[in-house]
Order: sequence, then structure tokens, then C-alpha cells
Amino acid sequence: MGDGTNGHKHATRFEFTAARNTAVFVCSRVRDGAPVLFVSRDRDGDWQFLCGGNEHGDGGTDGASLACLECVVAGDLTLNDVSDLCSNWTAERPGVGGAWRRHDRGEDFIVLGILEGYPVRLREVRSPDSYREHVGYALWFNQGYDFALQQVLWPDRDGRFPGDPDADPATTALQLRLP
Ligand SMILES: [Zn+2]
Ligand SMILES: [Zn+2]
Repeated sequence: MGDGTNGHKHATRFEFTAARNTAVFVCSRVRDGAPVLFVSRDRDGDWQFLCGGNEHGDGGTDGASLACLECVVAGDLTLNDVSDLCSNWTAERPGVGGAWRRHDRGEDFIVLGILEGYPVRLREVRSPDSYREHVGYALWFNQGYDFALQQVLWPDRDGRFPGDPDADPATTALQLRLP
């Protein structure tokens, strides 16, 4: 994955609308040559090209680093197939040459509610303390607090949520509402 130091690679096919030298995130395994099996775009449009493994640790040598978009694409021209991925969407595939499966992150909470058979309520979390305490990895990955954080709340047996005047205290106690 060349980036300045190893020389820039030219992609013979490049269909991204972003500039060829756009800085993108790659995980350590992709940087070291593993195939990209998971592509993600942040809410602000930044690209991430990842191996798809779930076992990445928080920072350290297993962390993400920046690479040049065209260099990444030059290493695997099939990445052009997701060049039209929208912000806040992800795409994953079982292997190089496999079909991409796209997913709208904005639907995650709705799916959660349907799957479990419960309505859920979302509340926005604002305090930097909450960010630091609960999503340290995301903080580091996003390089700051400029992303939305939502807490999912579950109702009690009668459909009342923590914070509602007559909510079940036991249910409320289990769900500390983050500042
Ligand atoms: Zn490059
Ligand atoms: Zn990875």
C-alpha cells in the first residue's frame, strides 16, 4: 500500500468521485496486504477500507492508518464496484470477487427493534465524558467528537421508558441514562 514513501500507484480503473489522492482509513491487515472485505463510509463521507475481521483491538499496532485512495484501489480494482457507496453506508463481501452486500447504517436501530420485537427509543448522548467512557475506539477512529452518539433505551413491561414519570424503577436502574 504505497503512500508517498513507497511511491504512488496508478489505478487503471478509477471510478470514485473523490480525488485520487484522498486520504482514507485502512486497517493494519489491509495495510499489510490483506484483501478489503468491508468498506464503510462515515457520516461525513470519509472512506474506510477494512479486512472485515472483528477482532481488531483498540489502537496499538492493530489500529487503522491513513492511505491514499488511488493506491488502495490500484491494489484491487474491484473496489470500484462500491465507488458509489453513500455516506453512512457499508458494504461487505465474503471474498475478493464476491458480491458486495450493502447496508444502510441509518436503519440499524429500526432493525434492532423489529428483530427483538420491542420498540426502542433513541436518545442523543452529548457529554464528552460519555464518549470517552463508552466509545473510546470510535473517538480514536473518528479523530474527535464529531460524530453522533445515540443510546438505545428499552421499555419496561408496560412500554414505559427510563425517564418517563411512571417508568418501572428496576428497568430504569438497569439503563443508566448517559449525559
Ligand atoms: Zn497513492
Ligand atoms: Zn482489519
